[in-house]
Amino acid sequence: MFESSYPFAFFDYFRVPYAVRPGLAVGRHARTPCPVHRMRMAGPPGGAPRSLLWLGADMGPAAWPGPCRLGRYQLRGCTFFGHVALNPVQATLSQLGRGWHPVEPIADGAGQPRAAIWRDGDGSVFLPFDPGEVMWEFWSEGYRQVGRGPLARGGRAALVRGYYLLRPALPRRLQLRLRREFTRVQARSSFPRWPVEESLHSLYAWLFRMLAELAGQPVPFLDPWPDGRSWALVLTHDVETGAGYRNLDLLRGPERELGYRSSWNFVPLRYQVADEMVRALQAEGCEVGVHGLRHDGRDLGSRRLLAKRLPGMREYADRWQAIGFRSPATQRRWELMPRLGFDYDSSYSDTDPYEPQPGGCCSYLPYFNESMVELPMTLPQDHTMFSILQNPDAEIWLRKARLLRERHAMVLALTHPDYAQDPRVADSYRALLEGFHGDGTVWQALPREVAAWWRQRDCSVVRRAGDGWRIEGPAATSGRIRFATADGSQPG
Ligand SMILES: [Zn+2]
Repeated sequence: MFESSYPFAFFDYFRVPYAVRPGLAVGRHARTPCPVHRMRMAGPPGGAPRSLLWLGADMGPAAWPGPCRLGRYQLRGCTFFGHVALNPVQATLSQLGRGWHPVEPIADGAGQPRAAIWRDGDGSVFLPFDPGEVMWEFWSEGYRQVGRGPLARGGRAALVRGYYLLRPALPRRLQLRLRREFTRVQARSSFPRWPVEESLHSLYAWLFRMLAELAGQPVPFLDPWPDGRSWALVLTHDVETGAGYRNLDLLRGPERELGYRSSWNFVPLRYQVADEMVRALQAEGCEVGVHGLRHDGRDLGSRRLLAKRLPGMREYADRWQAIGFRSPATQRRWELMPRLGFDYDSSYSDTDPYEPQPGGCCSYLPYFNESMVELPMTLPQDHTMFSILQNPDAEIWLRKARLLRERHAMVLALTHPDYAQDPRVADSYRALLEGFHGDGTVWQALPREVAAWWRQRDCSVVRRAGDGWRIEGPAATSGRIRFATADGSQPG
């Protein structure tokens, strides 16, 4: 349907059909601040098709030239991070067409307009940034380094390391007080917002509307979920201590009663995990994953430490037939996660300013980190909800889960049997399970099933078939095609 001079990460992610034709590239002789890529409708019925032009440094992040400034920006109320070609860009645009005029302002972090989305006389659109880079800044939480000097980056890491080194020595009461103090600081941060940060998904929706408008017809994409289900609900648990291990049934009990399946992440060297327990959970249709090696915040401390600990974690992964990883206290390093060798990781949150390593990938759909599937946690953790913020009930969980259902997204919950003796945790968890019990639209899946589906989806394509479209590849039987339209509705 579309043809593009260069791979377009946004279309790859949503599996929108397009072909790469390097011949379409905007002439390299043009004096543009960096390469300008072009996407347009293939084979139009007449006249020159309208194009989407976007900036991209295909030589790596170091290659962005001076006029493209890495920073925090605002577009239509959404926050995003990346390199943006700052105004004025008219000299560049005049080489790419006629009648260019700004249609949407882009403001910097202080709210000052610094750049714009442009349109030319024919209706083509110019983005002064690379949507692929913007997506990556969210997913990897790379944005957390934007605007920080190397010193501040090192300081932050030292703070988190110090917290873990000290933590075992601190009485639990003091730990909680420190976390609550820290919480006050976190609550002031304006990004990512909590409990919901919609910037990334609002940008997706805006790009879809714009591309459907350019194309003059609905844009097909591969639905995120299989078998006609419109959203996913994934239940996961981390078992922190021997007490949690003995209290598993506080959470598993209501699940069993209501017919839910869940995933249980155990720590190999902190308490005894019986093989019979692992097998019993698996026999009930549950899954077992690996929750670090000792739960001391050091597994991903450095490449060297990881290399030392990896054989131990792999040994238990094999023994438990585990293919999933959750890092203790959600400690995470983007470049190290794929080195763990698991099929999927679930250590990122869509938004969690309250963790010792705060942040948020802002995604409520799975995505890839190299060959590893990342399944972000998209509900606040029980510990945050009840121990830190002292919520009385499940209201925030239910509200956010309903919103994510509307967005056709993934609700991925993390609860701990270790905290489930607190009646607020146990009662709220039951309320969450009951809230969606019998919902015919949900895919209640194990994380390993979501990861497997995401891989199938990623190597399937949507193709023209007569007047319509069909799916080719491993998602052909259970996948479904949906359409994004210029007015934002999604027929089908
Ligand atoms: Zn843990």
